[in-house]
Amino acid sequence: MSQAILSLNAGSSSIKFAIHDVADLGSGRRLAHGQIEGIGSTPHFVARDADGALLTEHRWPAGSRLAHEALLTPLLGWISSRLGTESLVAVGHRIVHGGATYAQPLLLTDAIVTDLARFIPLAPLHQPHNLAAVRAMRKLWPGVPQVGCFDTAFHHSIERTVTRLALPRRYAAEGIRRYGFHGLSYAYLAGRLRELEPALASGRVIAAHLGNGASLCAMHDGHSVDTTMGFTALDGLMMGTRCGSIDPGALLYLQQQYAMSAPELEHMLYHDSGLLGVSGISNDMRTLLASDDPHAREAVDLFVFRIAREAGALASSLGGVDGLVFSAGIGEHAPAIRAAVCARLAWLGIRFDAAANAADARVISTPDSRVQVRVIGTDEEVIIARQARAVVSPAPPREPLS
Ligand code: ADP
Repeated sequence: MSQAILSLNAGSSSIKFAIHDVADLGSGRRLAHGQIEGIGSTPHFVARDADGALLTEHRWPAGSRLAHEALLTPLLGWISSRLGTESLVAVGHRIVHGGATYAQPLLLTDAIVTDLARFIPLAPLHQPHNLAAVRAMRKLWPGVPQVGCFDTAFHHSIERTVTRLALPRRYAAEGIRRYGFHGLSYAYLAGRLRELEPALASGRVIAAHLGNGASLCAMHDGHSVDTTMGFTALDGLMMGTRCGSIDPGALLYLQQQYAMSAPELEHMLYHDSGLLGVSGISNDMRTLLASDDPHAREAVDLFVFRIAREAGALASSLGGVDGLVFSAGIGEHAPAIRAAVCARLAWLGIRFDAAANAADARVISTPDSRVQVRVIGTDEEVIIARQARAVVSPAPPREPLS
């Protein structure tokens, strides 16, 4: 049996996983992948092979309030029976927030896991669950190295001015600054674009990760120069249930006039806002696009407007745009959203190919478009696996140049 790496992406309501053969990390082909969804309500475990065929499935009774550890145990049992633990060389974990400290993937020790808990208030939707999975894995498989892979790390290339918040300077010294997220996805997209279109990859590209969480990243030569998320993953675009950028005065007003407490405000901004809040119907783009309710239309229009507006800001950060890449659930699967965003961004020099877009082609701009527009499926798990492999089996040191 060859060596394998398990990638874990533990969120509040789901744990996504993938298993890669170490010898086949370049292709991104997975030995198996799947998720446990419905954590906290009705957990449902599904595993599939590389071609998407069902390998196993298990549904817990409704109302099973099982925590991550209780759910990881059967997942690991299944992985062991399929692979044999001796073939597993590392587990890579998505860790959403690495702060200013963690700019590279690294081996997770108890001390580091404790230190990473500092960032829980900055990423309350993700960080506690990421760390719960690490703790559970260290207990269940103590002999297997656990590697932390940070969503913030890709944005360490952003220059200092761009990371600043215009607050009294003592707060910057305490780490209150912009960080940026979705870095594992952007690392994948930058690498994939380099394979698909090297000339474009070395230019100025805006990548749009449009999932439940959504952000844009301005990349120059594959490096992040600006991004829409900031100190927390609340900033920037409107999202499934998160508000995105908002006038801080509105928050003060809500606190003062509606006597909202900080926890109430936090809950509203993270869970009750965005597409769900504006539509009053759903956070799911499929539901909203299928609805003829005017509030659904309003939510979708605002989502598109905000993407175009933020893309305009990133175009300024880049000094122009050569490429636009759509990715994640909405970016990959919602041609209507891509069309509406590109219509608003026509001024950048986008000539949109409506037929290619409707056919879900990979390039959706015309050959004479000044900006090439592409759709690229993201794969955060393979980036986690590659980073974990690099940490547990670093490349041999280079001979010094003579
Ligand atoms: P997550 O951030 O949870 O990983 P995803 O990247 O899976 O999210 O994206 C989820 C979003 O993608 C949801 O709003 C969902 O409605 C949307 N989506 C998925 N498939 C489609 C589709 N065919 N058409 C429109 N939206 C879609």
